[in-house]
Amino acid sequence: MKLDAKIPSGPLAEKWTEFKAHTALVSPANKRKHTILIVGTGLAGGGAAAALGELGYKVKAFCYQDSARRAHSIAAQGGINAAKNYQNDGDTVFRLFYDTIKGGDFRAREANTYRLAEISNEIIDHCVAQGVPFAREYSGYLANRTFGGAQVSRTFYARGQTGQQLLLGAYNSLNAQVNAGNVEVRERTEMLDLIVIDGVARGIVVRDMVSGEVSSHFGDAVLLCTGGYSNVFFLSTSAKGCNGSAVYRAFKRGAGFANPCYTQIHPTAIPQAGEYQSKLTLMSESLRNDGRVWVPKKAGDDRPPGQIPEDERDYYLERIYPSFGNMVPRDVASRNAKNVCDEGRGIGATKRGVYLDFAAAIERLGAEVIKERYGNLFEMYEMITDENPYETPMMIYPAPHYTMGGLWVDYNLMSTIPGLFVLGEANFSDHGANRLGASALMQGLADGFFVIPNTLGAYLAQGKHPDVDPRCDDVLEVEQGAKEFNQKLLNVNGTRTVDYFHRAMGMIMLDKCGMARSEEGLNEGIEKIRELKKQFWADVKVPGTGESLNQELEKAGRLADYFDLAELMCLDAKERNESCGGHFREEFKTKEGEAKRDDKNFRHVAVWEYKGEGKTPKAHKEGLDFENVELTQRSYK
Ligand SMILES: Cc1cc2nc3c(=O)[nH]c(=O)nc-3n(C[C@H](O)[C@H](O)[C@H](O)COP(=O)(O)OP(=O)(O)OC[C@H]3O[C@@H](n4cnc5c(N)ncnc54)[C@H](O)[C@@H]3O)c2cc1C
Repeated sequence: MKLDAKIPSGPLAEKWTEFKAHTALVSPANKRKHTILIVGTGLAGGGAAAALGELGYKVKAFCYQDSARRAHSIAAQGGINAAKNYQNDGDTVFRLFYDTIKGGDFRAREANTYRLAEISNEIIDHCVAQGVPFAREYSGYLANRTFGGAQVSRTFYARGQTGQQLLLGAYNSLNAQVNAGNVEVRERTEMLDLIVIDGVARGIVVRDMVSGEVSSHFGDAVLLCTGGYSNVFFLSTSAKGCNGSAVYRAFKRGAGFANPCYTQIHPTAIPQAGEYQSKLTLMSESLRNDGRVWVPKKAGDDRPPGQIPEDERDYYLERIYPSFGNMVPRDVASRNAKNVCDEGRGIGATKRGVYLDFAAAIERLGAEVIKERYGNLFEMYEMITDENPYETPMMIYPAPHYTMGGLWVDYNLMSTIPGLFVLGEANFSDHGANRLGASALMQGLADGFFVIPNTLGAYLAQGKHPDVDPRCDDVLEVEQGAKEFNQKLLNVNGTRTVDYFHRAMGMIMLDKCGMARSEEGLNEGIEKIRELKKQFWADVKVPGTGESLNQELEKAGRLADYFDLAELMCLDAKERNESCGGHFREEFKTKEGEAKRDDKNFRHVAVWEYKGEGKTPKAHKEGLDFENVELTQRSYK
């Protein structure tokens, strides 16, 4: 497997401009001759479909939801970063780049991260032009708030519904192109496999989720914009449908998988309430702008929060990290929440919770201001917990949330399979070992609306793209394989539900490959996953048939891939003998208990190559060069 990141030469701040100035183009008359397949209609995929349609390409977009505008991006709450410096508080493109690369513990490419910071400002202008109703100051200027890992206010937001408003903006642009006849959207259609002909991505096999019909679609490039794989943990803040199957099946066809173990456990979700719960709800990081995180100083203190006096409370983030306080990055906040709970100071029925307290902010600003900022989040919290957060502190606990790992891509967002591009959360590119809050929306929109329209042309202009014979062996074999895979799941006809196995695997992953990892635990995890996978293929019950709507079949297929992906995550975590960002290996920590990197041996992207069923994937490395930032021990103290 060859890993050429294709980073343009020249000074960091000029790379993207130079790239755009010199890259090959496809003429307007030729664009309509190219069909582009886009899987996913979130901010990355929806943005790409709208932008490429506008450019004149023939686009076919696919999603499994009943409408493109229900892609998971709609769930995003807190905001989107940009280096506009409207607050005049010292922000610059370089500072956003630096915060992002430091936030990721120096495990991302400089060039990609700088480009992201650079594009961030264009995104805001673009979204405002689309009509996205960002919050505004009384003066009319767009408002900003602070997010973790930053000492400036650069996060643009629309209450706690930023993702929804941004996705509606992208969806409007997408629909304009549908109406113009440039884009065709196929909803309730799930990609089952990738068609690679002569080493080049030329199509996908999909299943119509209502009729069960399996069919193939062909194009000159395939864009995977299929989101993250946090649901490998079963309980996560992601929607239940989010899955890793598209990227995992592309991995099996030859796409390198980068840093699979880099996952983000978000510090502020509503704690799990019961054994049969199937989903966790995020309480946006933005709440930490005004909420103070604390636990009782004394272990086992069961008094209600109102009865614990100030001097018996430990505002541990403010105490340990005086510079950033409650706004430390997510990995740091999550680890500390785990630590205080491990010390027996957790709160709530399960003792796996910490308080997020708004009393001081309400006293300072008044309840109305807090309601304006976070009203819908407070309502959501009250609906779920039956407690009023204006009166009682919220209870929160870390939950799996985001995956920084994903398919490896070069600067052009192309994977190791020519013609296969990967955008948004599905790729690995910009966040290193930990993503800062409000930067996933930025990346999705940057990739979709700004990067791919420039980089795709360079690929298409280079080569010939002969028509694919739909009945050729390469196509028939993939189609047949996809059908047989589903039939195999139906044939097991065992006694246990898909969720039974998924829940069990999630518990293994959380325990062995979650907030803290160790070599011993990861070895155990791999053994347990293999054992569970065997039981799954012997005893899962998938009722119904493949010829109609069958959600159990959909779930079973996704879980089958998750077993293998989970093992790959453990393997990657085991090989990375250092701690960085969200990847915390118990064996590698500083005296203060912080993540201890090993820049000499692990300053690289780990890229895995599929070697066949039951075989250990092969490890490759892309070295990371840092010419513009100094690699320091990350400190938020
Ligand atoms: C609760 C929550 C709150 C968040 N809040 C923020 C925030 O405030 N700020 C921020 O920056 N980030 C936030 N994030 C992260 C951010 O929302 C996501 O990382 C981002 O929206 C992902 O966008 P995407 O376009 O890559 O993928 P998604 O929006 O997840 O879209 C994936 C698309 O792929 C399709 N798809 C997947 N698999 C298949 C398949 N096999 N076949 C066909 N279609 C498929 C789906 O149908 C969907 O259209 C939040 C995440 C969560 C879970």
